[in-house]
Amino acid sequence: MSQSGGQVEKRDAHKTVGWASPLTVLKGVGPARAEAFASVGIRSIGHLLTFYPRRYKDRPRLHSIGELGDGDEACLRVRITGRGSNFYRGRMKLTRVPAVAMEPSSADDSPADDDAQPRITLRWFNQPYRKEQFAPGTELVIVGRMRLQSEKLAVVVQECELANPDPTGPPGLGIGHLVPIYSSITGVSGGVLRKLIRQALERCRELPETLLPQALTERRGLIPLQDALLQTHFPESHEQVDAARKRLTYQELFLLQVQLARRQRAVKAPSAGHRLPVSRKLQSRYLAALPFELTGAQRRVFDEISEDLAQAEPAHRLVHGDVGSGKTAVAAWALYCAVEAGKQAALMAPTELLAEQHFRTLCGLLAPLGIEPVLLTGSLSAEAKAHVRRRLAEREAVLVVGTHALFQESVAFADLSVAVIDEQHRFGLQQRAALAAKGSGPNVIVMSATPIPRTLALTLYGEFDISVIDELPPGRRPVATKLLPHAKRNPALQMVAEKLAAGHQAYVVCPLVAEGGKVNAEAATQMYESLGDELADLSGSHASLGLVHGQMRAEQREEVMERFRAGGIQVLVSTTVIEVGVDVPNATAMVVFNAERFGLAQLHQLRGRVARSSAQAHCVLLTGSKTPEVIDRLRVLEATSDGFKIAEEDLLRRGPGELVGLAQHGLPDVHMAALLANTATLVQAREDARELLAGDPELSRPEHRVLHEALKAASSRPREWTI
Ligand code: ADP
Ligand code: MG
Repeated sequence: MSQSGGQVEKRDAHKTVGWASPLTVLKGVGPARAEAFASVGIRSIGHLLTFYPRRYKDRPRLHSIGELGDGDEACLRVRITGRGSNFYRGRMKLTRVPAVAMEPSSADDSPADDDAQPRITLRWFNQPYRKEQFAPGTELVIVGRMRLQSEKLAVVVQECELANPDPTGPPGLGIGHLVPIYSSITGVSGGVLRKLIRQALERCRELPETLLPQALTERRGLIPLQDALLQTHFPESHEQVDAARKRLTYQELFLLQVQLARRQRAVKAPSAGHRLPVSRKLQSRYLAALPFELTGAQRRVFDEISEDLAQAEPAHRLVHGDVGSGKTAVAAWALYCAVEAGKQAALMAPTELLAEQHFRTLCGLLAPLGIEPVLLTGSLSAEAKAHVRRRLAEREAVLVVGTHALFQESVAFADLSVAVIDEQHRFGLQQRAALAAKGSGPNVIVMSATPIPRTLALTLYGEFDISVIDELPPGRRPVATKLLPHAKRNPALQMVAEKLAAGHQAYVVCPLVAEGGKVNAEAATQMYESLGDELADLSGSHASLGLVHGQMRAEQREEVMERFRAGGIQVLVSTTVIEVGVDVPNATAMVVFNAERFGLAQLHQLRGRVARSSAQAHCVLLTGSKTPEVIDRLRVLEATSDGFKIAEEDLLRRGPGELVGLAQHGLPDVHMAALLANTATLVQAREDARELLAGDPELSRPEHRVLHEALKAASSRPREWTI
């Protein structure tokens, strides 16, 4: 670094730079640049250093000029031979600097004979200062694109650095090594970003090195934070990147798990009021009243829930089970236990359609046991709602099924002891918390049909105990699924016609409600118009059609659904609104148009609609795409009906955000790599976090101070904790 920068630089160089210091302590960051960084959430030194590269690119080796042609990407060693000059080309300012290209092998040769080497012009656009930046004789390594015009050699320079950096000065930018590629930040070039990161690394005095207690880094064989950051931003080899990533990923997952484990400790504060009597007798009575025998998996979860309820700590359990695995019967058991203990229970569903269906199901399951549920949804009249609320407050009603109307402030329970939340991923964390806060912290059981991989479950639901129903009721057969190009529309519809002839019903799913705009895909409204004739042409008989989509009024939609349920409608043309909660066992065929527009997990949920009975169901996925990756992705559905495997594929191919809507869970943007890390690391981090908290619940030991502070900061500023 030159000393010619004057007062400002000297003053800056003395400023202490800490992890939490604002970016402006760095030389080269003024208000404008600070603003540019702030727009992507980077405000402190810590933020900057944890702005990890998205990926790495291998630098090309040094080229010899003879092997390069016009347009080639070049990595050359050059020596400046004279002063540069600036020109205008259109509105662009072009800088030309004369140089000679050197052979890679001549790197250490000296003195140089400029005349013997090929002349080459270095060009920069809109960087007029380049004209005088380099004194003649300076040697550079440059990366750029070759231009060969009328025998003259030029390179449009993209990046450059001194070939022989002063050994006492800052190391080079890494040309010749791996080059980190960052997400772009408007107003900050890649080169500037790297220089600032370099400066921050050199000047930052207080890295939160003991964020991971030393005992842990040793046990898990992790490199120090300082090295990890250096090797992430300025790696020399893939091995270094791997070691750095291992440390940073583990750290990120560990912090997350500590946070979640603390949350769980908080919700699990024991109190005698939560203990529910779960006797053998009660179990037998419930099981005897069921219209079917539980599957092995259901029975296992039934036992896990029984055990939860018998404890003084409130239950906090996630029940995971593929569509149709029979979660309702298991949840009803928990509800029944509460009612039998003389307390209240609630079941919450994300849509009115589903709430009504649960209400009907619970009436059927619990009527033989003498329990009468009540229903509370938004579309009840004000009077009816008030009536239900009064009965709940006065303990007249003991079991309520409803939508989010349940956690409105005006709903007060006399003694809520069990709250079950279905399709929980459709609720936000706050809504979930609002229901859980009713009463004195009830037993909470959440259910999800969105099969999510274990890695993600442990991350998102770290504060829950997890149960999995990984078995379907007997007699269920996987939906026979076939992927076809759009041109095979007729065979697909033929399949539908055959099902109809056999007395069954079908769904036809389109990605759009109506045609229009630039999107080239099938629309439900147009499909509804034309499908009747198409089917008649194919089969010679007429089918009755119905249409549902998200832009219809609720009553209208329910009316169509009711007719479909009753069999009056044979083919339901729809968008994805039917994804959850529709239970029509007689529907055994589904055709999905433009399947490439959906996620795998979503398609799996959709086809779950036709697997509600023991009849063999068929699903045809039609696609207009010819892209091999897309076809490969969709073929996963042909090959397997294992929801977890499918979700894993989705996660790998599309990223977690799209799969579950991470933001909804109230968790910060977890680093992608961390989520995709192998499950083993996550399980380790989870164990380590729980063990650490068991020994030091308040994190009051000196070796946990940095961790404690990071977590405190995390609760006020979500992104802060990500290191
Ligand atoms: P989901 O897990 O998707 O919520 P449901 O609880 O709605 O599944 O159950 C799907 C269907 O399977 C329902 O019609 C239910 O009555 C039936 N069912 C559930 N468990 C069993 C079982 N052990 N044997 C037979 N049928 C079952
Ligand atoms: Mg269900």
